[in-house]
Amino acid sequence: GLLAAATLAISLFTAFALKIKINIMTKIGQDIVHDLRTDIFSHVQKLPFSYFDSRPHGKIQVRIVNYVNNLSDVLSNGLVNTITDLCSLLFIIIFMFSINLPLTLVVLCGLPVFIAYVFILKKRQRRAWRIQSNKQSNLNAYISESINGIRVTQSFVREEENIRIFDNLSASYRASWLHAVTISFLMGPFVQLISTATSVAAYVLGIRWIMTGFSGVTVGILVAFTAYISRFWQPITTLADFINNLLTAVSYVERIFETIDEPVTIHDRDGALPLPPVTGHVEYKNICFSYEDGVRVLDDISFTARAGESIAIVGPTGAGKSTIVNLLSRFYNPDSGQVLVDGHDLQDVTIQSLRTQMGVMMQDSFIFKGTIMDNIRYGNMEASDEQVMQAAQTVCAHDFIMQLEDGYQTEVNERGSRLSVGQRQLISFARALLADPRILILDEATSSIDTETELLLQRGLNKLLKGRTSFIIAHRLSTIKNCDTIFYVDHGKIMERGSHYELMAQLGQYYKLYSSQFALL
Ligand code: ADP
Repeated sequence: GLLAAATLAISLFTAFALKIKINIMTKIGQDIVHDLRTDIFSHVQKLPFSYFDSRPHGKIQVRIVNYVNNLSDVLSNGLVNTITDLCSLLFIIIFMFSINLPLTLVVLCGLPVFIAYVFILKKRQRRAWRIQSNKQSNLNAYISESINGIRVTQSFVREEENIRIFDNLSASYRASWLHAVTISFLMGPFVQLISTATSVAAYVLGIRWIMTGFSGVTVGILVAFTAYISRFWQPITTLADFINNLLTAVSYVERIFETIDEPVTIHDRDGALPLPPVTGHVEYKNICFSYEDGVRVLDDISFTARAGESIAIVGPTGAGKSTIVNLLSRFYNPDSGQVLVDGHDLQDVTIQSLRTQMGVMMQDSFIFKGTIMDNIRYGNMEASDEQVMQAAQTVCAHDFIMQLEDGYQTEVNERGSRLSVGQRQLISFARALLADPRILILDEATSSIDTETELLLQRGLNKLLKGRTSFIIAHRLSTIKNCDTIFYVDHGKIMERGSHYELMAQLGQYYKLYSSQFALL
């Protein structure tokens, strides 16, 4: 009677728990995963450039997408199962105790053996899963790099080579996965083994005790008891699976938290104030900077740019030109020295207030997926369609846009595939104009641009620069003849400074560079 009631209670409990389990597991699991994914993404959005400089983008992606998804599997399959299993385990132990104490103790003897085994296996398992997630990350990094670099790959006919590399990476991922899974599979059979061993022990001892009449063991009790033994080890098997999954999850969680804990080195200082609207007066005071310890890229740079002044920065590749302007947007912090805008040290103002007053146009003008209209509006989300078109008109972008099949509504994607370099740059001019910043930074595109586009860009640029402090990293010197001041930068120092005519008269490095370009043309 008691036995039947107990069995019924356990079955009912299990069925009921299963129903709740399905609901909770899908909900809570997905909630956690969603929160985590959002957290890690928003953190990555804030990380400084230096973070992205030092690792492949695919490795960052894999953390946001794959690791979080894997964790989701573990959570939804494991967590709730475990709670129900622990409950049924508890019930079973209580029933076993209530039936017969010595027999229960015999069964429980298996537990320490099980726990010891888990401990021994754990280390190897963790290492295996860590290696597996590492391989996964490599594989993803390679996929992402290959897609980004597909143009280079195909022009250098490297497809076969890439496929070979990918094949290797994939094979090594497969191997690491199989290895990890194999180790994990060692758990199940072992539990089986202990289960059988304890059953046998209970039988042997039980029969002896029936004969000796020890502790009141009867045939009925022994039969009932052995039925419980398998019920006892069953949840432990699932628990062991859960421990497996948990170990896997730990290796993913470690990676996820590594990213979430990554310090945002470029952040607002305590008590940082918003930068009031500036006129655009910029001053660099004894700036030294290095990307990597010990390799000085900027060496004691000092200069002043009046509000509205246009400054061209020229010099050989690797001289430090981009680095100079990167410090102005505070994409990096200087090692020593100060950058001041209208007399405010950049370290003392909020980054947002600084960057909203600054327009940056990178060499490879980034085009987001969407329409041309959206892409220009990125400069100022509040701008109306008319204002967008107005801006495009001012920088001479309107005409080419109207020639596209859908005009401003033409869809473009990340690489701006259907747009030429010059057209992308015109769009970024319009975007910058719409943002109406006081300070403009332009890293000019190096690609050769036909004379007609160049004239167009020049006209657009002149309108854009009007009345703003501007820094132009120029590769075509014709663009910058009219700039107020030209810096000739080499080895992280400003070697020569002055107007085009002054520098030409000096017959120095700038003169040489200029002469060589125009002799070549
Ligand atoms: P330029 O714009 O004059 O071509 P950069 O300012 O881009 O030169 O680079 C100056 C030096 O700093 C180069 O030697 C370059 O290799 C190094 N450098 C540039 N960016 C990074 C980076 N993100 N991490 C490490 N070194 C860098």
